[in-house]
Amino acid sequence: MRFDELPLSEPLLRALAEMGYEEPTPIQEQAIPIALRRRDIVGQAQTGTGKTASFGIPIVELVEAQGNGVEALVLVPTRELAEQVGEELGELARFKGTGIVPIYGGVSFGPQLKGLKEGGRVVVGTPGRIMDHVRRGNLDLRHVRILVLDEADRMLDMGFIDDIKWILKQVPKESQKMLFSATMPGIIKGISRQFLPDHETIQVSEDRLTVEGTDQSYIKVGYRNKVWALYRVLEAEKPELAMVFCRTKHEADKVAKLLKGHGFACEALHGDMPQGARNRVMQGVRDSTIKVLVTTNVAARGIDVLHTSHVINYDLPEDPEWYVHRVGRTGRMGRAGKAITFVTKEEEKFLGDIAQTAGTKIELRQVPETGARDKVQKVLDFFEYADRTGMVHFRIDIGRKDNVSMMQLFQALSRASGLHDQDLGKVQVYEGYSEFEVPRELARRVYQGVHRRVILGKPVRLAVVERKY
Ligand code: ADP
Ligand code: MG
Repeated sequence: MRFDELPLSEPLLRALAEMGYEEPTPIQEQAIPIALRRRDIVGQAQTGTGKTASFGIPIVELVEAQGNGVEALVLVPTRELAEQVGEELGELARFKGTGIVPIYGGVSFGPQLKGLKEGGRVVVGTPGRIMDHVRRGNLDLRHVRILVLDEADRMLDMGFIDDIKWILKQVPKESQKMLFSATMPGIIKGISRQFLPDHETIQVSEDRLTVEGTDQSYIKVGYRNKVWALYRVLEAEKPELAMVFCRTKHEADKVAKLLKGHGFACEALHGDMPQGARNRVMQGVRDSTIKVLVTTNVAARGIDVLHTSHVINYDLPEDPEWYVHRVGRTGRMGRAGKAITFVTKEEEKFLGDIAQTAGTKIELRQVPETGARDKVQKVLDFFEYADRTGMVHFRIDIGRKDNVSMMQLFQALSRASGLHDQDLGKVQVYEGYSEFEVPRELARRVYQGVHRRVILGKPVRLAVVERKY
């Protein structure tokens, strides 16, 4: 849905466009039409879901800019929020010219009084200072037609319950009331029943902090083969929507580009992208034209997409808590979801902690077979093959039966791969084959110089011997 599909006036649409808001968030989509009908609302949605504009847009639409006195009152818990919400309302009202006055304690009364006298139509403030102004006769609440309690749970936490009740009793009984909160403790439900008996409830699903019900597994894969493994997983799973989490923006870009190049409906989403581009990507996600979203922890924070079928941890999250946040994005609304985590050999030891934090089992699984030719090729990842000391172990099919001595083989291998003698580790010659080790940084060079070449007069093959880590 776009903002211009809502019954909003031209000056407001223009303001939204300038603010870079292209489409309403879920709570905005639900709350705005109801609020415009002057209905009471109790809205619950987690932080960052756009609750401010959910009441800010209706206020700017419903309050006549040129009238007299205070017509809308927004109560917030802190002065920072008074400033912040006041600012957002100011931006929304930019082309209507509605006077917005922030009011909070700790500063002198003078400028606030001036704002009220000079046509302030909307007051955004903290309860204590608002009461002060009312008692001093600076602020008349008898003509308030819209009252908003923003961040109601925080206001109660801060001990404003009596102040709020006092203010609620000062405004006309028939005024429109809206209450927004991230959580709904009993005391807020009580206030809602008492002061907004005939409200509409709007709820936007919150991040669950449990991940049970989501099928969780991990795949052991080296860094260089993660794109290959991801390709296989996507081919095999055909997700409705996969969110792929990378550690960095750069990595997210790289992965998205590679997958796109192989024909996947895939886009990156991260904080370096301009808001317009981010909005376009999110639209694609909602329209299901994008099936794979490659993102980072931070960028994913505000995203709420219910049809996420797969969460893929391309990189292991730094913090076990983040695992839960990421995986909690799938398996919602009673759907079965899958979470697949890629771990390198060195990272495997962190899985225990993560599983414990998440309170679940994370089972080892293999990279799926697709039965078709891979578009993304698996490569030799010598860093993944290295042992704890960083050595890669090779087996070569030449041995005593070929009349080869340890010294001869040692020299032949050094020559073929262009290494210094000291770079080559232990060489052991057995009957039918031999084994030797090289530092992982040099493994590729050795492989290229030796595999399928002629060594000591014989065409040879090299294989990596994986050691227990
Ligand atoms: P909440 O009060 O639910 O915690 P806010 O109203 O403070 O959330 O909004 C969170 C952020 O999202 C703000 O930076 C705000 O500017 C931005 N935002 C809100 N609505 C939209 C929208 N429709 N499009 C783009 N950004 C939005
Ligand atoms: Mg808020």
